[in-house]
Amino acid sequence: MQRIPLIAGNWKMHTSLAEARALAGAVVSACKGLTDREIMIAPPFTALATVAEVVRGSQVRLAAQNVCWEEQGAFTGEIAPSMLRELGCSMAIIGHSERRQIFGETDALINQRVAGAMRFGITPVLCFGETLSEREAGQTMAVLERQVRAGLSGINVVEPASMVLAYEPVWAIGTGKTASEEQAQEAHEFVRNLLLTMYEKSIAQQMRILYGGSVNSGNVDALLHQPDIDGALVGGASLKADSFERIIHFRQ
Ligand code: PEP
Repeated sequence: MQRIPLIAGNWKMHTSLAEARALAGAVVSACKGLTDREIMIAPPFTALATVAEVVRGSQVRLAAQNVCWEEQGAFTGEIAPSMLRELGCSMAIIGHSERRQIFGETDALINQRVAGAMRFGITPVLCFGETLSEREAGQTMAVLERQVRAGLSGINVVEPASMVLAYEPVWAIGTGKTASEEQAQEAHEFVRNLLLTMYEKSIAQQMRILYGGSVNSGNVDALLHQPDIDGALVGGASLKADSFERIIHFRQ
């Protein structure tokens, strides 16, 4: 059962247009000749059109950092899936812990976003993960189960590549603290088994589960060596061309 590893960069609210163009160019160059992995970058909305020009014709997939579920209408501040498709986006990060924690996005709202993205052929990268206090209270697996079940509620996955999950322990995001390979694998295995109760075996076994949380050039190989870690969602280290290049070139 071969899952193609995916390395995804989340640029968050960073990069001017000139910086975005240069960084995207460096990512395109770094990927040349790599056929055994997929690469995705998620610039801020303002840079999507610019980056789309740079990645056109390359193997780099363009992603948005969020997506609405409606096609158009009175949704101030939101972006429709069809608008993203027009720009060349084929993926969208949904349910990032910063959206959940800072902007109050709920499991139900996130589920709507996932459904909307899929309706328009955009592959969601559905993020979930526990906070430090939840981990310390022994609630990690219960939180993961709640978030994954709710995020995927009513979602029929026919093609496993059309849905990506990302385990991102909140305490590891932007903190320099990475989950150990064992902690990450334990969570991924738990989610894999959960997926097996929700979808047909052939689908659940093929869906990719990324790890995110202070992934860098020094820890990526060990993390991706774990059997249920199918790639990385990278924040800070995706903003530096040299470190992201090394992450792209991970060795399992
Ligand atoms: C993220 O933004 O999804 C992330 C994992 O950030 P960082 O790699 O900086 O921890």
